[in-house]
Amino acid sequence: MSEAPPRVLTVAGSDSGGGAGIQADLKTMLALGVHGMSVITAVTAQNSLGVQGAWELPVEAVRAQYRSVVDDIGVQAVKTGMLASTELVETVAELLSTTNAPVVVDPVGVSKHGDALLAPSALDAVRTALLPLATVATPNLDEVAQLTGVRVCSEDRMREAAEAVLEYGPAWVLIKGGHLTGEPGRKGGDQAVDLLTDGNEEHWLRAPRHDNRHTHGTGCTLASAIAAQLAKGQSVPQAVTAAKEYVTGAVAAGFALGGGIGPVDHGW
Ligand code: PLP
Repeated sequence: MSEAPPRVLTVAGSDSGGGAGIQADLKTMLALGVHGMSVITAVTAQNSLGVQGAWELPVEAVRAQYRSVVDDIGVQAVKTGMLASTELVETVAELLSTTNAPVVVDPVGVSKHGDALLAPSALDAVRTALLPLATVATPNLDEVAQLTGVRVCSEDRMREAAEAVLEYGPAWVLIKGGHLTGEPGRKGGDQAVDLLTDGNEEHWLRAPRHDNRHTHGTGCTLASAIAAQLAKGQSVPQAVTAAKEYVTGAVAAGFALGGGIGPVDHGW
């Protein structure tokens, strides 16, 4: 018998194409040596071309999955992804309000193909119920604009964006500036720049931008990697730094699948 690895829970949507969502989360967790578990909030019919359909699970099904996992197995870190509706955001926030485990909130709004993964009416619940519970929130620039109204068009404004998100109460925020110097799937600047801050410390994380259009699942992978590193006992800056290195490798190794945007490679 071997010792149990750290346990990490993803609360997110299923991507039938296996590139993002729950599937990306569990692959990331496997690659990083933690035991991955899932509470599925919604099921999407999805492939490299986009999301063809999405169905929310009943609130009772979400509650029951969470209780099954937490009451018996226990969790050392949690990651949230696609939550779809106000009702689901509020339910997940209520469930997480009693956990002592660190919580990574990826405030998923819209997919790279422009498919809505969160009802716009649910943004308020994300701001007031979910973000206050986050150990780390990981919005990209589109999500920052939706949540705070701050539009970031230069690195200087990333600090302002971070302050605006911190107002909602997460302990740390990671502003993902990946879209800043170029659109995903197109050639942009040569660096992907993120800002991690708790309002006191500031960490600017820079990684080479890979000219690879196959980036489906990048955000899910990063948030799961942060949760995995937190479960292993790393500090937030250490966990985010290690997770960014992992996701940079996964993006560099992303591969073509189907006729559209392929996934990052979790096992690179
Ligand atoms: N599908 C699901 C279920 C997701 O949770 C996400 C992102 O969080 C996506 C799709 C979008 O992935 P991407 O924008 O990387 O294509």
